[in-house]
Amino acid sequence: MNELVDDAIVLRTYPSGEADRIAVLWTREHGKLRVLAKGARKTTSRLGGSLETLAHVGVDLVQGRGERYIVRHVVHRERYATLRGDYDRIAAGYAVVEVVDAIPAEDVADEGIFELVRRVLTTLDDPSYHPGLVPASFFLRLLAYDGSAPVLDACVNCGRPEPLVAFDAAIGGALCSQCRSGRPLSSDALGLMRRIAGGELAAVLRTASPVGAGEVAALAHEAIEMHFGRRLRASRVAPPSSPGR
Ligand SMILES: [Zn+2]
Repeated sequence: MNELVDDAIVLRTYPSGEADRIAVLWTREHGKLRVLAKGARKTTSRLGGSLETLAHVGVDLVQGRGERYIVRHVVHRERYATLRGDYDRIAAGYAVVEVVDAIPAEDVADEGIFELVRRVLTTLDDPSYHPGLVPASFFLRLLAYDGSAPVLDACVNCGRPEPLVAFDAAIGGALCSQCRSGRPLSSDALGLMRRIAGGELAAVLRTASPVGAGEVAALAHEAIEMHFGRRLRASRVAPPSSPGR
């Protein structure tokens, strides 16, 4: 029997048969796996209790006669209790794992993505950070990781540095007034995106509702949706509260 031991983030779970559950995992060393947790829907099941969406777990799997791995043992590495206690943090976490689940990467290992997701969940679990812009910043980071970071320092079409007045996710960046397409871009939102992309993420996330946050959330969502080519549901659940204007 083929055995596999790894760490994983639980992206989602869904019922299977009478009492079982399928869990979709992003593992550290074995990519995305869909695994079967037998009896996980019984109230007494320890597997069911541990395989929660948004948990970082250690799993011990065996490959049965079919292709699917069967869960033999699960331990919590991190349950993210602070994240779990707050609706906005949970919604932000769901927006993140839904995008990760949409990455077309079955059975392709990518430890970089595992680390990005683990770090974003750790951020959401930290009460000193506001969750509103966490999904947007994760999307921008994921685009950069995939070699598709939006161009923000000059017009993506003609290279003119200023002023940039529009953002087009299909073209992949900000645009000047002569090349404008996509949606309008305020200087606040552009500045905020530059700070997020440029290493000031922690400072941005310590601010409750930075000016331009709603715009950045929408742009980043559109960009990641365009990148993976399908409409994503949860990412729309919890837009950051709009800045006071
Ligand atoms: Zn231009």
